[in-house]
Amino acid sequence: MSKRYKAGVIGATGMVGQRFVTLLADHPWFELTALAASSRSAGKTYEEAAGKRWLMSVPMPEQAKNLMVLDADADVEKVKAAVDFVFCAVDMPKAEILALEDKYAKAEIPVVSNNSANRWTPDVPMVIPELNFDHLKVIEAQRKRLGTKRGFIAVKSNCSIQSYVPALYPVNEKYPASQILVCTYQAISGAGKNFDTWPEMIDNVIPYIGGEEEKSEREPLKVWGRVEGAEIVTADLPAITAQCIRVPVSDGHTAAVFVRFADAKPGKDEIIDIWKNYKSPILKYDLPSAPKQFLRYFEDDNRPQAKLDRELEGGMAVSCGRLREDTQYDYKFVCLSHNTLRGAAGGAVLLAELLCAEKYI
Ligand code: NAP
Repeated sequence: MSKRYKAGVIGATGMVGQRFVTLLADHPWFELTALAASSRSAGKTYEEAAGKRWLMSVPMPEQAKNLMVLDADADVEKVKAAVDFVFCAVDMPKAEILALEDKYAKAEIPVVSNNSANRWTPDVPMVIPELNFDHLKVIEAQRKRLGTKRGFIAVKSNCSIQSYVPALYPVNEKYPASQILVCTYQAISGAGKNFDTWPEMIDNVIPYIGGEEEKSEREPLKVWGRVEGAEIVTADLPAITAQCIRVPVSDGHTAAVFVRFADAKPGKDEIIDIWKNYKSPILKYDLPSAPKQFLRYFEDDNRPQAKLDRELEGGMAVSCGRLREDTQYDYKFVCLSHNTLRGAAGGAVLLAELLCAEKYI
């Protein structure tokens, strides 16, 4: 692709914002041209605003250091003058995020959002690019509602679902699942923390993550849904029950999954073949952040492990292992994805690449 796109980051000083800034530094299609955050950070250089709370393992990119941080709410026109689209990852009350994302979209700035506020807006696509990118076509209806030509909002799903939904989605096409039981073991970076800022997590397990179980049970049904007219109609099945647990891992959400199929039950080798041979429909675009092999199956009983396997294909692949028959469900298995790469900023960057390839941006 010859065109370069100018990208802004709203919420640039936060943990996910920092990850966006890092991913955009060497991106072949995107150039970081605007940063915005709250009025507390506005008017400072990015280094002044975020330098002391830089959480990434790599240094702050040079080209970001001297960019002036804009006020996300007051400076929409300045952001607009500098960008082709924005990524958004802000920590604000839901109603304020809805208003902010609306404001950008109505100003004709496409918004690729990491926030949960718009995930249940019926004409906002919630896309895992390798799975349900056909949902992007609802953007035309959203533009009509917003009265825009270019502006729209697209979101990514919660990080907790981004291992078991990718694993089950291609299997479900041939063998519909009726029930899924899942326990997630979620890394502390999902709370915007590391072991320095959350020492209580060392040698500890916390059996509650606010709002996470509801997201883990409901969001897959939108991903499995279909576009009908001006909205996405969610799927009725599979029924999902989830427990989400915080574990002392820096990065990488693991899920232990039990699945029951509605009718016919595939053989174990068939499921592994489906995983190994899954060809994502977006491969044709050769997107810079897309993994070559989206789903990887490990034969070794000790895999996948967060520490060993979360960085697979730049943290964008999903690892599966330990598939076996179950005495109560049909099968059980374990899967893993990187929560801040595939599950957050990396997934949003991939979504933006797809939106460019499909000419929505
Ligand atoms: P965070 O580290 O607390 O950062 C929050 C960002 O929002 C900062 O840039 C902050 O700017 C900005 N902000 C706060 N109040 C604002 C206001 N009134 N106007 C404009 N900007 C404002 O949060 P985070 O962990 O990056 O999460 C950001 C979003 O991503 C949240 O919606 C979260 O649920 C979602 N998310 C996070 C993860 C993860 O792995 N952490 C995963 C999935 C989704 P200042 O620095 O100026 O205050």
